[in-house]
Amino acid sequence: MDHDAGRRPVDEHQGVARDAVLAHLRTDRRATRVLLASWLSEAAALAVERRTLSADAVAAIDLPGFDNSQMDGYAVRAADLANATPSDPVELPVGAPVPAGTQPPPLAPGTAAPVMTGAPIPDGADAVIKIEEADPPAFPEPGMAATVRFSAPVAPGTFVRRAGSDVAAGDVVVPAGTRLGPAQLGVLVAAGVSEVEVAEPPHVLLISTGSELVAAGESLGPAQLYDANGAALTAALAEVGCRVTHRVVPDDPAALRSVLAEAPDDVALVVTSGGVSAGAYEVVRQTLTDAWFGHVAVQPGGPQGLGTITLGSPTATRDVPLVAFPGNPVSVLVSFELFLRAVLAEATGAVPAHRPRGRAPLAEAIDSPEQLHQVRRGRLDADGRVEMVGGPGSHLLAHLAMATLLVHVPPGVAHLDAGDDVDYWEIR
Ligand code: AMP
Ligand code: MG
Repeated sequence: MDHDAGRRPVDEHQGVARDAVLAHLRTDRRATRVLLASWLSEAAALAVERRTLSADAVAAIDLPGFDNSQMDGYAVRAADLANATPSDPVELPVGAPVPAGTQPPPLAPGTAAPVMTGAPIPDGADAVIKIEEADPPAFPEPGMAATVRFSAPVAPGTFVRRAGSDVAAGDVVVPAGTRLGPAQLGVLVAAGVSEVEVAEPPHVLLISTGSELVAAGESLGPAQLYDANGAALTAALAEVGCRVTHRVVPDDPAALRSVLAEAPDDVALVVTSGGVSAGAYEVVRQTLTDAWFGHVAVQPGGPQGLGTITLGSPTATRDVPLVAFPGNPVSVLVSFELFLRAVLAEATGAVPAHRPRGRAPLAEAIDSPEQLHQVRRGRLDADGRVEMVGGPGSHLLAHLAMATLLVHVPPGVAHLDAGDDVDYWEIR
C-alpha cells in the first residue's frame, strides 16, 4: 500500500476538527453573571478579561455624568461676551472657583467663575474661556475680589463637555459579542454598570499521556522527562479563552479510562497529547477506539486523532469532541496552531482567530518532504528575510521558544532557495 496516499490533507483535517469542535461549543456555551466590583477587588482578571459579553451592557448613568469643563478657564455666559473686542474688552467680576468634585452655585449673570478641567459647569454658564486667553491669564487668589477681561466673543458650548455626549443613560454602552478588554472594562465601570453577563470559557480537559512523564517541579528518574506539553497546552488554551483541567496519565488504558470517567461535568472538549502513533504503547489510540486515528500530511504533527469521546460514569455519560495530538512538544504546539487555535478563538472571541500572516524571502535554502506540508520555525533577520531557528525536528522545543514565526512550506515543494518567498504566521 502506498503509505502517503492514506494521509489526510491539512485543510481537510482542519475542516473536520473545526466542524466537530465548533458544533459542540456553539450548543454548549453557557453564560454567567459577573459583578464588576468583585472582579476589581479580587483582581480575578480571568473572570471577565478577554471574555465576551453575552448580553448588551446598558449604561446606568450618562457619560459624562454632568456638563463639565474641557479646560482650566473661566465659565461664562456667552451672551455677556458678545461685544468683546481687543480694543474694548468685556470686564467681569470673578466668582467663586469650581474645583473638581464640588457642585457649584449657579453663575450670576455678568460674572465669570474659575473652573478646573472636569469640574461641573455652573448652571447658567454655557462656555469656557481658556485661562491663557483671559486677561490676566492667571486665576486670582481665592477669596480676593478681582475682575477679568475678555477680548473676544465665545460661541456657546465652547470647551463644555455635555452630559451624555459619550454615552447616554439607558443606551447600550458595550454590545453583546464584544470581547472585554481595558477600554470596555473601564467604560462599564464609568457608566455605573455593576454586573455583566459573559460567556463561560469552554472547559477543556487536557490529558498528557506517557509513562515517562513527570510533573513540573518533581524529581526526575532515569529515562523520565518533564511534562512540557501540559504546560505548553495549558498556556495555549488559556490564551484563547479556555479554562483548563490538566491530568497526566501513564500509558495504561485503565488509568486513561478512569480520568475520563471522573471528568468534571462541564468539560466541553478533551485534548490529549501522545499515544496516537502506531507503536506498541499508544494509550490514546488503543483506548479511544471510536475516534478516527490516522496521518495528516504535515510535518511535524503527522499522527493525529479526532472524534467524539464519552465522559462520565456508566450511569451519566456525555459525549464531547476529542482532539488527540502526538507527543513531541513541537508537534503539539504546531498541531494546536493548525487545528485548534482558530476554532477556539472563534468560539470564545478571546483573541483574533488568525495569527498575523506575512510573506518574505528566505535567508537560506531549505528542503522539505515533497508530499507534506512542512511547518518550520523561524524569525525575520535584520534585512526582513526569513531565517530558520533550528532544524525540522519535532523535539526542538527550545528552538520553538526562540522563534517568532511558523514558516509554511506547502506540499509539492521539495526545495526552496535563498531569496524564494515563503508564507509565515507570526506566533509572538
Ligand atoms: P508519543 O506520541 O506518545 O509516542 O510521544 C512522542 C515523543 O514525545 C516521546 O519522545 C515522548 O517522550 C514525548 N512526549 C510525549 N508526551 C510529552 C509531554 N507531555 N511532554 C514532553 N514530551 C512528551
Ligand atoms: Mg507516549
